[in-house]
Amino acid sequence: MAHALGALASVSPSVTADASLRKTGFKINNNLSYDNRLWIPLSSVNLKSRFSSTKYRCKVVSMSVQQTVRSKIPVQPLELENAKETPLNLYKPKEPYTATIVSVERLVGPNAPGETCHIVIDHGGNVRYWEGQSYGVIPPGENPKKPGSPHNVRLYSIASTRYGDSFDGKTASLCVRRAVYYDAETGKEDPSKKGVCSNFLCDSKPGDKILLTGPSGKIMLLPEEDPNATHIMIATGTGVAPFRGYLRRMFMEAVPTYKFGGLAWLFLGVANSDSLLYDDEFTGYLKDYPDNFRYDKALSREQKNKSGGKMYVQDKIEEYSDEIFKLLDGGAHIYFCGLKGMMPGIQDTLKRVAEQRGESWDTKLSQLKKNKQWHVEVY
Ligand code: FAD
Repeated sequence: MAHALGALASVSPSVTADASLRKTGFKINNNLSYDNRLWIPLSSVNLKSRFSSTKYRCKVVSMSVQQTVRSKIPVQPLELENAKETPLNLYKPKEPYTATIVSVERLVGPNAPGETCHIVIDHGGNVRYWEGQSYGVIPPGENPKKPGSPHNVRLYSIASTRYGDSFDGKTASLCVRRAVYYDAETGKEDPSKKGVCSNFLCDSKPGDKILLTGPSGKIMLLPEEDPNATHIMIATGTGVAPFRGYLRRMFMEAVPTYKFGGLAWLFLGVANSDSLLYDDEFTGYLKDYPDNFRYDKALSREQKNKSGGKMYVQDKIEEYSDEIFKLLDGGAHIYFCGLKGMMPGIQDTLKRVAEQRGESWDTKLSQLKKNKQWHVEVY
């Protein structure tokens, strides 16, 4: 695919973690290097040996003096495309799969409120899944509410494609925000009340064992019958996880049976630019696929909406409401993922916009649901 860099330049991943890697899962720079691999994710830092083979080296072919073409990354095993049925609950809480942590990397910069980590897990190809599904994680220790029993399962949206960040079908990645507790009166952090599973995941080290259940969920599966469909993705924070998987499948991986030619439009809401997740990865798609990808960010603590208030995803939706409504009328899929609290504001905005257009939102929403265009996973 064309990658107009203006001059012969390429993406040159480094196995040395640096600031640009932290936010992205992979590194872009303008160094010319035909010998390096492209699009290599951060998580591959610990998967180096898997990439040492030349088959993972992507070709950079000169299109003209001004442009280069970089090919998508081959994935395997392609049998993962052949399953007729969605993989569901291959592992259950009573008999979870013991997987191994490959890497844990902080995704956000120093000025982000809170911490979000990218966690790569080696499941050995045994807990296969499709884009948009979730894994269950059983944190170690005893359930305080049921002494003698393990903790309850916590669900996490999978942030990689079925091939994983290692492109070999053996890993899955999660995007986890560390749950911390601040005392309402003192305003101080109370570590005794911190979230059990998110802290276990963010503190885990390569080689640690992790109990997995799942995969679960069908609502966020990427409908692939029409490779030219439009997909509007609305995410807040870690809600970006399933969309990272979709977008890697659409734009990064060479899947012979899925050649995306439609439009993917991501709206991502986070607190500030340091909180952006996988931003360089998404920005890379914008450069490579300007006709197929749109990316709009709402930075609540940095940007103002048109009324002078904080900029939330619903403000961005409102800004583009004409186009969004037209795309929905044309059959676009719309997805929402992130914290539960995002939905009321978004629904209010959509309702207001519909009314301004002389449409009934309730009728429109039931039509979207009936047509399976409406996909919501909030937590
Ligand atoms: P818990 O231990 O379950 O605690 C929950 C909250 O209660 C925490 O904020 C904790 O600080 C607070 N708390 C603990 N003790 C007390 C107390 N005594 N008094 C008051 N408060 C207390 N999360 C992600 O980060 N990324 C994802 O991609 C993701 N995907 C999800 C997908 C689905 C379908 C669902 C349902 C959830 C998803 N989640 C995701 C949320 C995730 O499942 C967990 O709920 C989250 O990580 C918190 O779990 P925990 O074990 O860390 O916190």
